[in-house]
Amino acid sequence: MIDSIIQQPWLLYTALALFGLVIGSFLNVVIYRYPQVLLHSWRQESRALLAEHAGSDVEAAISDASDPPPPGLVWPASHCRHCKASIRPWHNIPLLGFLLLRGRCRDCGKPISWRYPLIETLAAAATVIIVWQFGLGGFALLWIIASYLLLAMTMIDLDHQLLPDPMTYLLLWLGLLGSVAGISGVTPEDAIVGAAVGYLLLWGFYHLFRLLTGKHGMGYGDFKLLAALGALLGWSMLPAVILVASISGAVLGIAWLMIKGQGRQTRIPFGPFLALAGWVALLFGPQLQAIYF
Ligand SMILES: [Zn+2]
Repeated sequence: MIDSIIQQPWLLYTALALFGLVIGSFLNVVIYRYPQVLLHSWRQESRALLAEHAGSDVEAAISDASDPPPPGLVWPASHCRHCKASIRPWHNIPLLGFLLLRGRCRDCGKPISWRYPLIETLAAAATVIIVWQFGLGGFALLWIIASYLLLAMTMIDLDHQLLPDPMTYLLLWLGLLGSVAGISGVTPEDAIVGAAVGYLLLWGFYHLFRLLTGKHGMGYGDFKLLAALGALLGWSMLPAVILVASISGAVLGIAWLMIKGQGRQTRIPFGPFLALAGWVALLFGPQLQAIYF
């Protein structure tokens, strides 16, 4: 069966697209629930720390009772955010479920966010494009996993201005170990230097910006994300990544502020633009390097 799939390109791409849709559906759950899990555990730690140093009245006021645990990543099953009705299995099918329901909850008729089919489609598109560009193999597998992570991190950063450490670190290990395994197309030396330089570039920029303006321009998650991209792409791709991230961030950021009509103090997360730039560098890296070298 695998032979016939490889021999028939359209079969291969259909299988890849379906796989991407299913993973995209899972990413939707991760994007929605994982930050809740993280925020809940941080609140718990903070309460434990406060309770150690405060009197019993404070301890009672900050008890865990008012902060119920968030849903897990796998359980409970998906339900409507408005009416809490559980979603029927056939409506949970990626993309098709959304189309069957015409974008509305079967029980309460409230609209279902267009983000769900969008994320599923993007995950499917990334899977197909990577194999189409680079063929089946270790390199494609590495970048398909990296793309899923980048997609989830982009949405979590947009929602919460947060890039979870476990996700940036996983991307960093993928880059470093991928270079050691010889599948990332980057030597271990270039990957290690890329990780260090990626982190230090944004770290340096952050502190320079803070000294000059007294403001915090970005978060530590951004440094870690660029470190991970440096490990995946090698240090020589970092200028291209920063260039694309800055330009797209400036253009889309200004457009966003104009559409939303918000002041210039509005915080725009940088993570999504770094993720986008990492992807652009993957596909068009050599062309970009030719421009600036
Ligand atoms: Zn509903």
